Amino acid sequence: MTTQTTRKKRTPGGPQAAGSAGAVRPQVVLLGTGGTIAGTSPRVGDDVGYTAAQRGIGTLLGTLGPALQAGPGRGVDLQSEQVAQIDSKDMSHAVWRRLAERAAWHLGRPEVAGVVVTHGTDTLEETAYLLHRVLAPAKPLVLTAAMRPADALLADGPQNLLDAITAAAQGPGQGLGGVMLALAGRLWAGAQARKVHPYRLDAFDAGDAGALAHVEQGRLRLLRTWPPAGLEPLGLQVLAADIWPEVQIVTSHAGADGRLVDLLLDSGVQGLVVACTGNGSIHHDLLAALLRAQRQGVMLLRALRQGSGCIVAGDAVGLPDAGSLTPAQARVELLLRLLARQA
Ligand code: ASP
Repeated sequence: MTTQTTRKKRTPGGPQAAGSAGAVRPQVVLLGTGGTIAGTSPRVGDDVGYTAAQRGIGTLLGTLGPALQAGPGRGVDLQSEQVAQIDSKDMSHAVWRRLAERAAWHLGRPEVAGVVVTHGTDTLEETAYLLHRVLAPAKPLVLTAAMRPADALLADGPQNLLDAITAAAQGPGQGLGGVMLALAGRLWAGAQARKVHPYRLDAFDAGDAGALAHVEQGRLRLLRTWPPAGLEPLGLQVLAADIWPEVQIVTSHAGADGRLVDLLLDSGVQGLVVACTGNGSIHHDLLAALLRAQRQGVMLLRALRQGSGCIVAGDAVGLPDAGSLTPAQARVELLLRLLARQA
């Protein structure tokens, strides 16, 4: 394993393609964006009152030490690049665009087997879904995170990072590629994963879809292949707009009404995701306001607020739905549809 930190674009005469004469070793590129995995705590052992995004990606890589040599890092060149340094609750369109650009650029290098992204868990499912739709890469683009800060007494980040490197390096040989998450010993499809717990180390699942693979002792045990064939990426140009459309999430619940929708309409909202009850049902007062908004050109998309399953076709509401996406992912989908329309 060799490591190197990159901050600039590849210059002519850069690394050769793997498999060409001279046998260049496959590379895995680590892109750092912050999160708890890079966080530190003011009090020893405080796994809640910490500050995210304090350590650089090079430092996180350094903490893997001999575990890399013994495991997935053997025979792989690792490079790292700091793309952002934020708590992912504060994720912005600018960071999404920069991350998508850097990931696309590295994935396009023939010598790169896969890319790993360190990220916070809070908006991980949104970033993963965005990268899935925009890039739909054939190579592994593996996002990882942690539930405890980097200086926790028993940190989970190093193992997650190691597992992500395993997936990036070994995925292609085992029919695994595309956007994935590596967390708590399992791999999840980026388009399906969601955060389901605020504290547990095993904080993600994929609703009905289940995991893609286990990562055990530096090896992948596949449960199914990913991504499905024929995915068409939207392409980076969809993120080029300086002003992104306004897309909000409204929730149907007991006592819901249409006031929020009316306020959003007045403020120029272009898309609304409805986090629905039951099998996509919506309080009748909220529904009336949504239909008014739809008549005025607002794009609507229903998602389920309960975290798994999808709206079973044939329900009475009949508004478009986002399949098994979470409301937050459905918001990304609607954002991308609007961006694609105006591109
Ligand atoms: N607030 C943190 C973040 O999303 C939480 C985490 O990473 O687990 O960046």
